[in-house]
Amino acid sequence: MGTLTVDLGERSYPIIIGRGLLSQAGSHLKKCGIRTGSPHLIITDSNTAPLYLEKLQSALESEGFQIVTAIVPAGEQSKSLAVYEEMMTRAITGGLDRKSAVIALGGGVVGDLAGFVSATYMRGTYFVQVPTTILAHDSSVGGKVAVNHPLAKNMIGAFHQPVLVLYDVDTLQTLPDREVSAGLSEMVKHGLIWDESFAHWCRDHAAELLALQPEALEYGLEKGCAVKAEVVSRDERENDLRAILNLGHTIGHAIEAIAGYGEFLHGEAIAIGMVGSAKLGVRLGADPSLETETVSMLKALRLPTVLPGHLSTDDIMSAMSHDKKFTEGQMNFVVPKAIGSVEFVRGISSDMVRDIVDELKK
Ligand code: NAD
Ligand code: MG
Repeated sequence: MGTLTVDLGERSYPIIIGRGLLSQAGSHLKKCGIRTGSPHLIITDSNTAPLYLEKLQSALESEGFQIVTAIVPAGEQSKSLAVYEEMMTRAITGGLDRKSAVIALGGGVVGDLAGFVSATYMRGTYFVQVPTTILAHDSSVGGKVAVNHPLAKNMIGAFHQPVLVLYDVDTLQTLPDREVSAGLSEMVKHGLIWDESFAHWCRDHAAELLALQPEALEYGLEKGCAVKAEVVSRDERENDLRAILNLGHTIGHAIEAIAGYGEFLHGEAIAIGMVGSAKLGVRLGADPSLETETVSMLKALRLPTVLPGHLSTDDIMSAMSHDKKFTEGQMNFVVPKAIGSVEFVRGISSDMVRDIVDELKK
């Protein structure tokens, strides 16, 4: 078991990663100042609930906690204002008060939804993340919480840090293969932006990671969370540094948007986006091995590295123009300089970006 800290002064919190943690949840919550006197709400989804809800709920109840639960349909569509309102109703009927915790049990969807409920119910309650996907090592750390608007993803949200991230790697054993690879995409991203030796470690241990070997998962999640925690500690509200976490996301979000959410999982789309960023890096002066190495790492994790030919370059360019990182008519990108090192580059010509999108189809 390993513990990391997200260092945010008085709002610092631990990320505990290890095996068998669900059954010890009660004592961990108590250590974070959560009391048994108020009811607490576990929000989970329809895939995660049958697997892990009873285990977490009974562990908490056996320590004297009073628990109410809410199960939302699995999938991105639960990050909606309609589901948010249902969760508010559950919190009110369950009698939650200002000393209550909202506990997210699941992947990034449940984490983002529960976090926004926690940020806003009675102007803020305790928030606990119990991530059960690999991708959620990214979403559970850092305090960005949100639901979607029909016109745009993550448009309605807040910064609301958890008091605890409790990461039981045993829960990852039931993940479908595609979700495993998609989560590993964000893991290797943390290496690519910050830590060369970790990026290489991800490639060299791809087989163990894909096989969900617990020691490899624990190490990889610890390293990935450590990078995220470090970046968030230095720039909680994305004034500058935090933007590097978006490596591959400008092109990746455009791919997700035009392919229709569903053809690609988020981690798959950003894998292709990270290849595009590497190509951009090489055009801007990085050694060509940057691109070949990036591709080999992603392939080792069974991620796509090529854009399907049926996706139109025009559509991708137009989707990118709606991206938050597109300001004042110029394109801004997180660009790698080498494996483990990136910079935020403003004012990249859209012709160069268009060439790269075309190249991604080859
Ligand atoms: P998800 O929550 O939809 O989980 C993926 C799938 O796995 C779902 O079908 C879920 O029901 C299922 N699942 C979850 N745990 C399982 C388990 N242990 N065994 C079997 N199945 C399980 O998606 P995700 O990939 O975890 O997260 C994606 C979401 O995270 C997106 O909405 C994205 O916007 C958000 N996100 C947020 C941040 C942030 O900083 N807040 C960062 C990255 C992503
Ligand atoms: Mg992401």
